[in-house]
Amino acid sequence: MLVLAIDGADWNVMRPLLERGELPNLSALIEQGASGPLRSLEPLRRSPVIWTAIATGKSPEENGVGGAPPEGGVTQDASAYTSNMWASSAFWDVAGRSGLRVAVVGWLVTWPAWEVNGAMVSDHIHHLDAYARAAQAATLTYPPELCAQVAPLVRTTESVTVEELSRFVDMGSELGLASLEGNNGTVLRTAISGDETVAAIALSLFDAEPPDVSCVYVRGVDEASHVFWIHTDPATRPPADQSKPGTLLLEKQARALGKALPEYYRYADEIVGRLLSRFPPTATIVVCSDHGFRGPGPWGSGRPFMGEEQHALDGVIIMKGPGIAPGTTLCGATVYDVAPTVLALAGLPVGRDLEGRVLVEAFSREFARRHRVRYVDSNDTGARERRSAPAASPADEEIQERMRSLGYIR
Ligand SMILES: [Zn+2]
Repeated sequence: MLVLAIDGADWNVMRPLLERGELPNLSALIEQGASGPLRSLEPLRRSPVIWTAIATGKSPEENGVGGAPPEGGVTQDASAYTSNMWASSAFWDVAGRSGLRVAVVGWLVTWPAWEVNGAMVSDHIHHLDAYARAAQAATLTYPPELCAQVAPLVRTTESVTVEELSRFVDMGSELGLASLEGNNGTVLRTAISGDETVAAIALSLFDAEPPDVSCVYVRGVDEASHVFWIHTDPATRPPADQSKPGTLLLEKQARALGKALPEYYRYADEIVGRLLSRFPPTATIVVCSDHGFRGPGPWGSGRPFMGEEQHALDGVIIMKGPGIAPGTTLCGATVYDVAPTVLALAGLPVGRDLEGRVLVEAFSREFARRHRVRYVDSNDTGARERRSAPAASPADEEIQERMRSLGYIR
């Protein structure tokens, strides 16, 4: 089984691309499986909080990550959530305790990496250099010695080549690659290097010893959406005005970067294809996003949406596998339903203490007959009952900088 987490994936962006056949790997999953919108936490919360809710099937109050609602808007502390705060088991912990081998790569709030029945590579792997300088690189993976093995697969932002960048830019436009000077380029390099790193590490783990349950998180779609939406959607830009040089530059950037966002989705679909190439056709695949996306808002309608205000309530869920009825349209699924559904698909008991439900309407009649959903009071063992304050990380400064580049911090 593969659970593929695509931060910020949105049906409104995907639909026209799917119709034109430009997301072939996701399209095949949709055709052969069940899909629909996935309602996020209401009110919307920051991505680390949502991904923890997805992994545990429990509310922030229950699972320990993001329990207190943010006051006064965006939380400024980028390092506010670390894995020592988790008070509930992730579905991969439940799977691991039942003897299934797991691999977790890049999932948010997994630093410090914790013991699993298999391998865990934290999302902080993207800050390997900072951890290495602080002599804490071994906290990035479980087992700790795995870090040295995956380190050569970590791509830095500087390692992203002109060739890799140029597919996102209209090279025939006036600005060409110069459109990537400043924040546009910083974010694109971060997105590409991050997604390449996660994909390469996941593939190396799959190839070393195929896990029973794999969980892979990629963030590039969200990052690209934050900076490129304005270039794709003219209604979100100020009209070009000769007396305002900023608007003229933006217009030129838009001519160069108008295709960057759809191209990023096409690129993400290629990564999906790379990962799927290691799974047999009988594997169960679950693709989900933590929230959807909207642009900075129509120009002139007030202050533009910034940072996480650009997130929308409805994300994406797609499931395909021997247990899934092909062509099912899902209605009313929420982020809380992912964990119980994944547990049921893996033949594991579902905790009655979970917030969501098993999406049984997606199951094939055959699967539902042969695999009745089993329930237990709780899958939490109490072993993770160690709610505490966030840990300080050697990458805190870099993480803050990244948040700033995406508009989360002003
Ligand atoms: Zn997100």
